[in-house]
Amino acid sequence: MFKGILITKDEAGYHAAVQQIDDAVLPAGDVTVRVEWSTLNYKDGLALTGKSPVVRRFPMVPGIDFAGTVSESSDPAWKVGDRVVLNGWGVGETHCGGLAEVARVRGEWLVPLPAAFTTRQAMAIGTAGYTAMLCVLALEKHGIKPGDGEVLVTGANGGVGSVAIALLSRLGYTVVASTGRPAEAEHLKALGAAEVIDRSELSAPGKPIGKERWAGVVDTVGSQTLANACATTKYRGAVAACGLAGGMDFPATVAPFILRGVTLYGIDSVMAPLAVRQEAWARLARDLDIAKLDAITNEIGLAEAIDVGARLLEGKVRGRVVVDIRR
Ligand code: NDP
Repeated sequence: MFKGILITKDEAGYHAAVQQIDDAVLPAGDVTVRVEWSTLNYKDGLALTGKSPVVRRFPMVPGIDFAGTVSESSDPAWKVGDRVVLNGWGVGETHCGGLAEVARVRGEWLVPLPAAFTTRQAMAIGTAGYTAMLCVLALEKHGIKPGDGEVLVTGANGGVGSVAIALLSRLGYTVVASTGRPAEAEHLKALGAAEVIDRSELSAPGKPIGKERWAGVVDTVGSQTLANACATTKYRGAVAACGLAGGMDFPATVAPFILRGVTLYGIDSVMAPLAVRQEAWARLARDLDIAKLDAITNEIGLAEAIDVGARLLEGKVRGRVVVDIRR
């Protein structure tokens, strides 16, 4: 038996609770990990509350990511004591996840934890921070340089947005942060934003094409915000779209793409190949300011995760939440 959150669904409804879980609940896998830290991402909020059908098998341990130490392995790539991090692959959705003391997974899903990070810091980064790095890599590979102009980050106070601001500013970009919480402007500036704008500037229906402003965009919001971001991106600029915090629709026209040569990159962290993950984690180790990461990290115990998951969906959580699995 081990402690964790278990989600069940039956005639009584959808239910998430901290409890002792039988080992038999764990799925097949060649590596068992003693989880030390997990975290709460937007998707974990959806899973814990049942607001979206993220969990597709029951009973399920939620948690789309974790960091910990290998306790058993029949995969020659991993040995007992190795420090590992896992993001995505359907963990916490179709395969038991990280919000429990023990996880059993396929060895090929694991990434060695960079020496620069503790398991707690790895989860302060979490899937949100790793996705922010994937967005930054997409803009970099497109060829956007700090001198090319402003880079917009939407959903700035969220997990992806906060880490994206810290990364981009460290790399020398001029970051404009868009937020619905202007009271947090000083915090966003401390993270590295040069300017903070109200998200209402981007969320109302706009023109198919507008005044050119952004060299690049990291968008976590989707919907009208993404459409407006594309419409105001500079000639041959790029937009990295990873989120839907404002909606799944995309009420845009092709004008920015065919008149300005704007490129829209879709960012997926869940099924990204191992080499992409390794590059992202190596770059996080090099480019993320740990002091800034610590400043956006809030710590909770496993028992608090269910309530905090609901608050996250309401946009009431700033930055990143790490979950201490042992308390
Ligand atoms: P958070 O909940 O931490 O942050 C989301 C932020 O979006 C909020 O803090 C808020 O920022 C803003 N926001 C919330 N509601 C709205 C709204 N109705 N309209 C406009 N802005 C809103 O989530 P994460 O940072 O973890 O994730 C952000 C998005 O990225 C989510 O949609 C998530 O599903 C997605 N994601 C995708 C991944 C992928 O692989 N593609 C991986 C990880 C996340 P503020 O208060 O500053 O306005």
